[in-house]
Amino acid sequence: MSFTLPALPYANDALEPYISGRTLDFHHGKHHQAYVTNVNNLIVGTEFENATLETIIKKAEGGIFNNAAQVFNHTFYFEQFSKTPVEVPEGKLKAAIQVTFGSLDAFKEAFNKAATTLFGSGWAWLVKDADGKLAIVQTSNAGCPLRDGSTPLLTCDVWEHAYYLDKQNFRPAYVADFWKVLDWKIVDSRF
Ligand code: MN
Repeated sequence: MSFTLPALPYANDALEPYISGRTLDFHHGKHHQAYVTNVNNLIVGTEFENATLETIIKKAEGGIFNNAAQVFNHTFYFEQFSKTPVEVPEGKLKAAIQVTFGSLDAFKEAFNKAATTLFGSGWAWLVKDADGKLAIVQTSNAGCPLRDGSTPLLTCDVWEHAYYLDKQNFRPAYVADFWKVLDWKIVDSRF
């Protein structure tokens, strides 16, 4: 099996001024593409040659895991944005956020802290854990919640390549703008 780079569901400049077309040119066209190319090369002749991405993420180690998880993580990240996002969760997700975090603002505050304090490269996530409860988790490097049986709902890529062209070292400014293009309609559908 060979994996392919999914096209972005919007134009590269659709998320401006919050995430620039130049950032997406590199982040999707170069970084995401490289993870796809790498995993395709690495699985040749291994037990994972015909495995699904999810199986590889759950079972592989080392370079195969890292590149497969980065393919999943980036696809999941890029798919949650929209030029015309729904700005708040609705229905069951809205209620679950209120139960777990108290309010949407309190959730965002806690998520921002997780995203801005993660040391080095990685991801901040909202997940539904194996018991069905919402939780904010941090993963380092290519870490992926599928690995421990959680269901990812939204994610913020805090590798420097996600924001350095636009924000340089100001990760909090990137995280603040992240919310302006996050489409809660997509997060609702994942819940
Ligand atoms: Mn990235």
